[in-house]
Amino acid sequence: MDRNTNIQYLKGVGEKRAKILNKLGIFTVGDLLRFYPRDYMDWSKITSITAAPYDENCCVRAIVNHKPKGAKIRKGMTIYKTVATDGESLMNITFFNNKYTAESLEAGKEYLFYGKVTGNFHRREMSSPLVSPVDKGMRIHSVYHQSAGINSRAIEKLIRQAYEMRNDYFVDYLPQSLRDKLCLMEVNKAIYELHFPTNEDTLSEARRRLIFEELFLFQIGLMKLKGNRKESTPVEIQNDFTDEFISMLPFTLTGAQSRAVRESVEQMTSQFTMNRLLQGDVGSGKTAVAAALIYTVVKNSYQCAFMAPTEILAAQHYKTCLNFFESTPIRVALLTGSTTAAKKREIKAQLKNNEIDLIVGTHALIQDDVEFNNLGLVITDEQHRFGVRHRGALSNKGNRPHTLVMSATPIPRTLALMLYGDLDVSILDELPPGRQPIETYAIDTAKRHRAFNYVKKHLDEGRQGYIVCPLVDEGETDLAAATEYAENISKGFFSGYKVGLLHGKMKPKEKEAVMAQFVSGEIKLLVSTTVIEVGVDVPNSVIMVIENAERFGLSQLHQLRGRIGRGKYKSTCILITDAQNDAAQKRMKIMTSTTDGFKIADADLKMRGPGDFFGSRQHGLPEMKIAMLTDTALLNEANRFAREIIIDDPEFEKEDNQNLREGIAHLFSGEYVMN
Ligand code: ADP
Ligand code: MG
Repeated sequence: MDRNTNIQYLKGVGEKRAKILNKLGIFTVGDLLRFYPRDYMDWSKITSITAAPYDENCCVRAIVNHKPKGAKIRKGMTIYKTVATDGESLMNITFFNNKYTAESLEAGKEYLFYGKVTGNFHRREMSSPLVSPVDKGMRIHSVYHQSAGINSRAIEKLIRQAYEMRNDYFVDYLPQSLRDKLCLMEVNKAIYELHFPTNEDTLSEARRRLIFEELFLFQIGLMKLKGNRKESTPVEIQNDFTDEFISMLPFTLTGAQSRAVRESVEQMTSQFTMNRLLQGDVGSGKTAVAAALIYTVVKNSYQCAFMAPTEILAAQHYKTCLNFFESTPIRVALLTGSTTAAKKREIKAQLKNNEIDLIVGTHALIQDDVEFNNLGLVITDEQHRFGVRHRGALSNKGNRPHTLVMSATPIPRTLALMLYGDLDVSILDELPPGRQPIETYAIDTAKRHRAFNYVKKHLDEGRQGYIVCPLVDEGETDLAAATEYAENISKGFFSGYKVGLLHGKMKPKEKEAVMAQFVSGEIKLLVSTTVIEVGVDVPNSVIMVIENAERFGLSQLHQLRGRIGRGKYKSTCILITDAQNDAAQKRMKIMTSTTDGFKIADADLKMRGPGDFFGSRQHGLPEMKIAMLTDTALLNEANRFAREIIIDDPEFEKEDNQNLREGIAHLFSGEYVMN
């Protein structure tokens, strides 16, 4: 038996069970052993009945008084009760419908009971505890993800069975020298420890080793994919004109903005292609950084392209750039799907003839017939919204132009590092001065009226606001719901105020018209679906109400909320929800307690897992089995050593590095073809 042996060779695994295991991604013995526990139960620390913490899992060692007696309490429900003692106090024990466990208990014998102790001081009880004989149970137990047809214990048993044959199933992907340097446990030992921990310390050492392995293989895989050589560029940026640009701005750049501009310009003037990620929370002023770079590149006689994921955003960037470059000779144009055919033709001809310096647009920019004369810089805003296919498509229209990727979705630093492997990163971790923190409240629908009154008060003071529409249930359409909602409030509560409506199904021209009215202040209150989630910048809007807040993910709520708090006025966000479930309540709690995008993104990641965070398919991220992407210290370490090896032995030819290739292939399991 080896790690490639089919799971059906294990005793107790027939065709049916194999199918169930397959669903969990387990096909071979190796898969089974790499099916890591989801959690642990510590049965090694025994608590006395009196000292047991209330409503928390713990392990109690007690003697059973009498064999549990069963009683039918209603159809299909039998309840088994007994009493156990640890020599000091008594505890009632109850099982529901669990005849097997109940009848396995013998009067006068001692067992371990694992579960939550409830009841009061006089009457302690455990409901449906897990039970084990004392001699086998006093250890840390693994808990596995289970699925219909197989439970955690059955999985544990299979794993034990596999280890009865041998305990050296795996080759170690990590070079011995690296393991020695970082004191990392050998792989077979680590995996065994993960399933059957000797104690807390060895478990944490095992975890550290396996987390490191994943992060390390991931990074080295990405680096290998992208090629690690620096590429020289024919785009010659010789002079830095940013100071000139900055002196024209109506504000001074923040320290973070200046740093980002400096880092970028330094790189662009170095004759190597810049590949940079500009990361900044909502409202941190990424556009001004982009404009400073555009100015410098254009002054060096190159063209720039600035791509945004939506028409609204492209139009807004276009306007912002027109403003920034008003008193300069820079020629700016906008190209989107809704540009008229005639205008498109004109713009394309001008681009090709070098009569346009900066083209702002949507996906329309990557169409085949868009050609540049000398493209020097490509900027994409909200990069992650473009699929992988689009990555690079715009750059290919030039001869190795510099690229700047802007992301307002606060990708946790760690994930950014992984996603963008060897992209350089500039971070805007500072908001422009004078911003007041946004206050956020979560309320239920019973208080909606009060929230609306509060909105009114702000409108009366000359400010503007957003209401993010309820998401709808199946059957209805977002459009119908939004339209109806807007109609209701504009006829009802907000009659006398100009209410606008913005949704995804509107024609670009209609959207633009509504946005223009909102920007000019004519529309006071904008009812919108999530189309405003990205980038919209109207500093006079200071209040936002989000209906059905429970339906949104944390990062999305953060993005929505980022539409307010962009000017000098104090802003308020009101989340309306009646949802009582833990996950929803937790999200509300996070939203009301912080406005730090990175904290929120980390929390989001923890609650949802990295796959969901971006949709792992779209990004081709392999699924991490064990690594938490928030484990910064290990990630940095992994990054450092991955770089070292890539530089030292890029083809993995050294004896010590010979298993790396297999390790990478295993982690990426076919998603990437290594060559
Ligand atoms: P984001 O990073 O979310 O894209 P924007 O670029 O839209 O942020 O900038 C948000 C707002 O802050 C804009 O109205 C912009 O004019 C303003 N802004 C940007 N930088 C500064 C600064 N240094 N001082 C004052 N206001 C600034
Ligand atoms: Mg922006």
